[in-house]
Amino acid sequence: ESSRVINFGAGPSALPDSVLEEATKGLLNFDNTGIGIAEISHRSPEFTSYLSTVEALIRSQLSVPSTHSILFTQGGGTAQFSAVVLNLLARHWLLFPDLKDEQRGLDYVLTGTWSKSAHQEGLRLAGRHQVNVAADGRIYSKDSKSFDIIPPHESFKFSENPALIYYCENETVNGVQFKHDTESVGSEGKHIEGTFPFHLLPQGTLVPLVGDYSSSFMSRPIPRLADHAVIYAGAQKNIGPAGLTILIVRNDCIVDVDAAAALGAQPVPLTMAYKTLADGKSVYNTPPMLSIYISGLVLKRNAELGGVQYYEAVNRRKMQKVYDALREGEEKGLFRGHVQHGSESWMNVVFVILGDGKEKAFLKGAEERGMTGIKGHRSVGGIRVSLYNAVTEEQTDKLVAYMREFIASQ
Ligand code: PMP
Repeated sequence: ESSRVINFGAGPSALPDSVLEEATKGLLNFDNTGIGIAEISHRSPEFTSYLSTVEALIRSQLSVPSTHSILFTQGGGTAQFSAVVLNLLARHWLLFPDLKDEQRGLDYVLTGTWSKSAHQEGLRLAGRHQVNVAADGRIYSKDSKSFDIIPPHESFKFSENPALIYYCENETVNGVQFKHDTESVGSEGKHIEGTFPFHLLPQGTLVPLVGDYSSSFMSRPIPRLADHAVIYAGAQKNIGPAGLTILIVRNDCIVDVDAAAALGAQPVPLTMAYKTLADGKSVYNTPPMLSIYISGLVLKRNAELGGVQYYEAVNRRKMQKVYDALREGEEKGLFRGHVQHGSESWMNVVFVILGDGKEKAFLKGAEERGMTGIKGHRSVGGIRVSLYNAVTEEQTDKLVAYMREFIASQ
């Protein structure tokens, strides 16, 4: 008998029951040490070996090539808004010591609340460096101020030799996501709109491309992973408890930040420098061990189920079912999706319910049926249904049945 409700929350979010049950054992006795995971040394052979296993699970499930390191840290996606700027500016200084400040551009693709926050942090930290908007979804939005679309390829303009190009793959608040067609070229040989325009990136093999994957990491394969300088994600959506941030960093971006500072770059706090994390094998200082432990249990379970390909198939079906019900509600004039067609997120479905008091009634009905976490973000309002990995297809079916019941009752 479970007293647990179905949790469609946007993050922190649901974790599999079986993992949580297993985790309670590790809290008492980690790996037969007789010591719990919250009590054992992070330098114990048992823990460092566990950490290597977690790394290997990520590497194999996402096919991370040997050109890239997998690093673990704290601070969440927000700390990475700062860290990517500082590390990649340092790299740029080392590569091109003679450029003027204004020749070191930071390019931001704006598609929602999170990329906007990253851009703001870029502006704070950039100093005299140039900060550019490479594309802005708001220009193409229905009301020319909301984020509800991935901007068209033709609107992207990257700097010639930027220090950083940032995009957010899935906008958790706005429900806008890049399409992930791995080849990004359709059957007619044309690049597919809604995908990230990899073909427009500045020429050169080592492009400083940064992808914020906080809310879609491990939900499906990552297109062109090897072409990224940095990919990062907080654990608390698809992987585990908050506290752990996972980084995939191309090795040329792990640089001696002090050498860069000697040339004129800003100093980088030790815990933010990728080199500190890499040299210290992610245990330079105490890592979030409980979060790493539970994330590892989730990743082991993923491997048994079929990895990221398994989740891609399940998540595709879940998402299609919810959007189908949303379209039915739209036809009845009851629901209205927030996002324009082609830019809809698989992970966060955002819509409003039209009519006086109807949204409240919908939320109340959901709670009565044991479903929670669907109230929209305070900045967008409406409803937001998050369909992260641990939300099962059966649970999704229950929500979809309720959406249809609600439509029929109106
Ligand atoms: N980026 C994205 C896409 C997010 O969804 C979030 C958190 N919801 C963040 C960044 C910030 O992450 P954190 O709260 O872990 O700092």
